[in-house]
Amino acid sequence: MTDLTGLYDFSPRLLALADKAEEKCREAFARIEEIQAYNEAKVLKAFADNRVSAAHLVGTTGYGYDDMGRDTLDRVFAQALGAEDALVRHQFVSGTHTLATALFGVLRTGDTVVSVTGAPYDTMEEVIGIRGGGTGSLQEFGIHYRQLELLPDGSPDYPAIEEAAKTAKMIYIQRSRGYSLRPSLPVETIGKIAAAAKRGNPDTVVFVDNCYGEFVEKLEPVSAGADLMAGSLIKNPGGGIAPTGGYIAGRHDLVELCGYRLTCPGIGRESGCTQDQNRGLYLGFFHAPSAVANAVKTSCFACALFEELGYPTTPRCGDPRTDIIAAIELGSAENLCAFCRGIQAGSPVDSHVTPEPWAMPGYSDEVIMAAGAFTMGASLELSADGPLRAPYSVWVQGGLTYNTGKLGILLAAQAMESARS
Ligand SMILES: *Cc1c(COP(=O)(O)O)cnc(C)c1O
Repeated sequence: MTDLTGLYDFSPRLLALADKAEEKCREAFARIEEIQAYNEAKVLKAFADNRVSAAHLVGTTGYGYDDMGRDTLDRVFAQALGAEDALVRHQFVSGTHTLATALFGVLRTGDTVVSVTGAPYDTMEEVIGIRGGGTGSLQEFGIHYRQLELLPDGSPDYPAIEEAAKTAKMIYIQRSRGYSLRPSLPVETIGKIAAAAKRGNPDTVVFVDNCYGEFVEKLEPVSAGADLMAGSLIKNPGGGIAPTGGYIAGRHDLVELCGYRLTCPGIGRESGCTQDQNRGLYLGFFHAPSAVANAVKTSCFACALFEELGYPTTPRCGDPRTDIIAAIELGSAENLCAFCRGIQAGSPVDSHVTPEPWAMPGYSDEVIMAAGAFTMGASLELSADGPLRAPYSVWVQGGLTYNTGKLGILLAAQAMESARS
């Protein structure tokens, strides 16, 4: 690899393994670059077709009626994501809030939502009312919830999905593994789930938690049969530039309903000023396919290097990707903490800080996290975390540029090596 003498001081053994790991990634990198090129073209075309102009980059104040920048950004997102319509707003405070808006926007008292990919992301359990006080949860509003598990090999239970859809207003799918060890679902698999659900009930709404998935493949779930999807702008589609926000995209009638939930009945999407947010949201979306490709490359490199070092990874380095997450089983608390110290040292912000395990509210074990990001909590930027319990897995994601992401991963490996000697 490039001679970094005087900048970073890696052991000769690690440098040799890094070269080997990168060699192993060659095919995967070619695939990622091909997808990146396609997605960049998709985004550029969406900007051009919707005649994005300088005036759109300037925001409004107050009620924000007739905010051209906002309404055009909705159309740009919709086109590039292959959706009929989209609702892109900096007023979404997080991914969870965006997903919750979609659920409350579409579901009504007496309806049933069925998660067909096992337990949803942690924070969604409180939204649904499976866990926590349930204040304001779907359950409190009389919306029923059921759950189908993935089969032992990680694949969906299609006959059970078809049957469940018969009485379901909504079929809920989570694309990314989140913080579990189950496989993430390719868009093609999501398409098969949607087809099974529609066989059971053509009127059921197929909804996808698309967090961490945008631009990892050429197509998004709404192009494969899903009706609606949502995600966070401080993950993939914000391109590392959007400072906050979320998006919902899919069928026009459903996106309209979500607009009435985000603001209120009668007003919906017609209001909501953009202040000085438009430029960052446009610029971030423009950068997103490239930033995502760099994060996926960083993730492949991390898996390749740690496979060389003898640690199990999911996915494996050459596996096709549908999200930016990798999990590495590090086997001991010392390794996990050293890994996170290395990632932190390889961050552009707060690199001098030492992450320590802490008892995070809502978790049964201590958790350690490494993140030194320009946007607080942004996980398209290089970050890592894991609970201090066997098998001491670390979840690592992000890397706005491959070269800096790779340095972060090398510093993590080096920190583990130093901790042992
Ligand atoms: C991040 C994430 C969420 C929630 O997003 P927050 O911004 O953390 O609220 C939901 N689902 C998945 C799969 C995620 O990765």
